[in-house]
Amino acid sequence: MDFSVITEEEFDLLLDAGEDLVRFGKTDRKCSRCGNDFEHFTRGSSYQTKCKTIDCIEITGRGI
Ligand SMILES: [Zn+2]
Repeated sequence: MDFSVITEEEFDLLLDAGEDLVRFGKTDRKCSRCGNDFEHFTRGSSYQTKCKTIDCIEITGRGI
């Protein structure tokens, strides 16, 4: 699966979920594809927000 192929809605959802996880350490948002939870990682100056299901949706970026 190509991770870059996500819809605009999915991208926004991941952004919002990532923001929740950074701010509150948790999010009530669920993956729109499979209903699973999201998780957020930071590695140095880059970050990643992804669905906990392997090979589902994710976004990565640099800086916040
Ligand atoms: Zn998912």
